[in-house]
Amino acid sequence: MSKKWVYLSRSASDELAETLGHEPALGEMKVILGGKGAGLATMTGTGLPVPPSFTITTEACVEYMNSGNFPAGMWEQTLEALKEIEAATGKKFGDPSNPLLVSVRSGARQSMPGMMDTVLNLGLNDETRVSLAELTGNEWFSYDAYRRFITMFSDIVMDYSREYFEEKLEELKKKEGVRTDPEVSLEGIRALVDEYKAMYKDHFGEDFPTDPYRQLELSIKAVFDSWNGARAVAYRDHEGIPHDWGTAVNVCTMVFGNMGKDSATGVAFSRDPATGKHEYLYGEFLINAQGEDVVAGIRTPQRMTLASSREWAKSQGIPEEKRASLYPSLEEAMPEIYDEFLGIVDKLEDHYRDMQDMEFTIERGKLWMLQTRTGKRTATSAVRIAVDLVEEGLIGKEEAIMRVDPTYVDLLLRPSFDPKASKTVIAKGLNASPGAAAGIAVFDAGRATDLAAEGQDVILVRPETSPDDVPGMLASKGVLTQKGGATSHAAVVARGNNLPCVAGCEDITVDVGRRQFTADDVVVKEGDVISIDGFTGEVYLGTVPLIATEYETQPDLIKMLVWADEIRELGVRTNADYPEDARRAREFGAEGIGLCRTEHMFFDPRARDAVVRMILAETDEERQSALDEMLPIQEQDFEGVFEAMDGLPVIMRLIDPPMHEFLPSREELIEEVTRLKCTDPDSPELTEREKMLQVVTGLWEVNPMMGLRGCRAGIMYKGLTEMQTRAYFQAACRCTKRGIKVIPEVMIPLVGHVNELKMEREKLEAVAQQVMEEEGIEVEYMFGTMIEVPRAALTAAEIAEYADFFSFGTNDLTQMTFGYSRDDAEGKFLLKYVEGFDTGEVDYNGDPIKTPILEANPFQTLDQVGTGRLVEMCVEEGQAADPDLEIGICGEHGGDPASIDFCHRVGLDYVSCSPFRVPVARLAAAQATIRNRK
Ligand code: PEP
Ligand code: MG
Repeated sequence: MSKKWVYLSRSASDELAETLGHEPALGEMKVILGGKGAGLATMTGTGLPVPPSFTITTEACVEYMNSGNFPAGMWEQTLEALKEIEAATGKKFGDPSNPLLVSVRSGARQSMPGMMDTVLNLGLNDETRVSLAELTGNEWFSYDAYRRFITMFSDIVMDYSREYFEEKLEELKKKEGVRTDPEVSLEGIRALVDEYKAMYKDHFGEDFPTDPYRQLELSIKAVFDSWNGARAVAYRDHEGIPHDWGTAVNVCTMVFGNMGKDSATGVAFSRDPATGKHEYLYGEFLINAQGEDVVAGIRTPQRMTLASSREWAKSQGIPEEKRASLYPSLEEAMPEIYDEFLGIVDKLEDHYRDMQDMEFTIERGKLWMLQTRTGKRTATSAVRIAVDLVEEGLIGKEEAIMRVDPTYVDLLLRPSFDPKASKTVIAKGLNASPGAAAGIAVFDAGRATDLAAEGQDVILVRPETSPDDVPGMLASKGVLTQKGGATSHAAVVARGNNLPCVAGCEDITVDVGRRQFTADDVVVKEGDVISIDGFTGEVYLGTVPLIATEYETQPDLIKMLVWADEIRELGVRTNADYPEDARRAREFGAEGIGLCRTEHMFFDPRARDAVVRMILAETDEERQSALDEMLPIQEQDFEGVFEAMDGLPVIMRLIDPPMHEFLPSREELIEEVTRLKCTDPDSPELTEREKMLQVVTGLWEVNPMMGLRGCRAGIMYKGLTEMQTRAYFQAACRCTKRGIKVIPEVMIPLVGHVNELKMEREKLEAVAQQVMEEEGIEVEYMFGTMIEVPRAALTAAEIAEYADFFSFGTNDLTQMTFGYSRDDAEGKFLLKYVEGFDTGEVDYNGDPIKTPILEANPFQTLDQVGTGRLVEMCVEEGQAADPDLEIGICGEHGGDPASIDFCHRVGLDYVSCSPFRVPVARLAAAQATIRNRK
């Protein structure tokens, strides 16, 4: 017997259970049946009203892609399944007296909305059209279905663009003086079908295929082929979906939403996909229409609920009477069906335990469910839905935590437009996807991609978007469309990619040809700057200032992070240099400071002169006097940081960069000295500049990052680190006296040999003791070291003898392990290493296939194999030498989710990252615990 390629939706679960030897999990069903097929099978299995259907597996598509032919047995199984559908519906495929019509739809394992092809109304020909008219008593409808079928089949299966057909329809509407499709006369639509058939014959030299089986065979092939269509390939590249998965094909009995006023079709989300609110059904429908009309943005769709309909009408300035008569909600127009739909939504949410995105059709007063899938969502709604689902008892806290991508947390804390800033509102549309964006208006997706590649911030403005616009949308900062509703293509893609989007902005008229849009008397041309607010739907002229999003205004995020804190084992500290940063980080949940880069205070204008004098000093006295001036300023900052971190540890990292960074550049000085020699040779300024040049030349190093910096500078510059330690311990003692609980930790940077640490520690610990004696108070403290030189990692056991803690400085450790300069590598070669080099081959899309040298930029995501190996060895040896050794990380990787997972696995005590990444790290650390436990 040949392999099973075709599953009837009604028995798919049982049959798969038989094939697999166990009840199929949803994921397993999706692998074989695709998302849509799995949805149809599950909905049918749950007893929901689903038109009889069957699914041809993704495996069949893969075989087809490999051989160019249907796999053996697939077509026979398709015909058998078709017979079952005929029996279930009492109709017959191709039967002129009682024809069965079907849809043929793609459906991959992971949703790829709008990226592949669908053929509707398949099975129609001149004869079956007649009986469709007779059976429904609606001749107009039969012609409408037929003209749609000819258009779709020609476009998708035969590659004869639908534009030619649509043009004819537009001409007809103009001729008849009507605005919408259903207003076209019977004679008109009949003549249109004849015209379409003639166009087809003219184009291909043969009649439009009348044999339904031939139509079916070609359509299945076309859907398989659409897996490798340009749009689908580009989408998979962007989403990281493997190219060898293939798509399933779903053959489903047609039900018609365009059979008259008691018919309708729509799409709905079980929760608001933009905000996550669970207040009402979020969706749209059209009476007397087919599915494509809803997303095409040709007619204004109606809302599902009365409340949302009123809200929408208000935002559009439509009076209540006009709304109720022209755009009633489903709740008002078809109350019983609305109630039935609500019941189905509850069942689906209970089953899938997640927000659903559903397609439905009402055929002459009967509701049919055509599709359900997990709804795409924004960062805001992802968090809100996950938290609500926990509170509704549908999922547990851990599942909620695993459902939110940590990078979403970052997005939630992104800035929004300052409500107090003066703004010129030029239009208002639908707030389709939240976020604030500003950039130049661009009217073409290809141009948007090009200009974005040049580094411009772009807002893509389109009448409406189609899948071909997706690459341009993704390259833009935001999207603005004139037409289309909350479930339009633009809205769905924008939400799925966290792009701010204002859709259906009917206040503007987009003229793509002239590259401009108008809003009343304002004309915005390509290159003019606009701002769009995806939170409110407003469009502004020019740039609007942004303000930070307050953490306290995110109650759902806060709740989820508190759950994360209950679960995570890694501590989360912050890298903060100033009291203000420390306070913010603490609000974000930081449990201490993992790195205070104390040299940042040296750039403070209050200290700058003294710092320069300290470097230029020729005698110990001169140097000490400069250091004495620096001390109180540094002490003040330390006190502020201790206050902000009351009760939490504060790691003070001693000065790290080379001294020349605090002085003017050598090139500038040479220039100045040369100029002064010519213009003012006797000036005291020249003498001073010459002296400075001499010092700078003395400090000059070919390779300063490997030179006199870190503990080496501390050892060589007498009094410098002593001053820092004194300032730190004075601050600690004085804060303690004021009732602040301080936990001071001193960190010595860039240690490569144990003797460096030993020497610095002994010297500085003596200072600490002396200060405490002077202040008459004891504070508990720790001395430790950064591990950022490979030799330190390799000699961890020795180093651990003189350190109470280690903190991995993975910025330098990466630099020195790879031998890549952290300042130059990206621009010179590293980005190219990650992007890859041409292989000379092209992908399905005709784009060059590239081979990267590195999977990711090692300065962003820790290289676990190489740098990580050093980290692992160092942790093992360090802890073997001293089981109480505290170990953390304070390089940039401490805020990167993948690197945080690694830190958890190697058993670090904490990660430390910049304040804004603290919430990301809290969530990522919890996910690491959950993921690695399973
Ligand atoms: C590091 O090297 O990882 C580190 C945190 O120190 P800095 O970035 O200040 O060199
Ligand atoms: Mg470093």
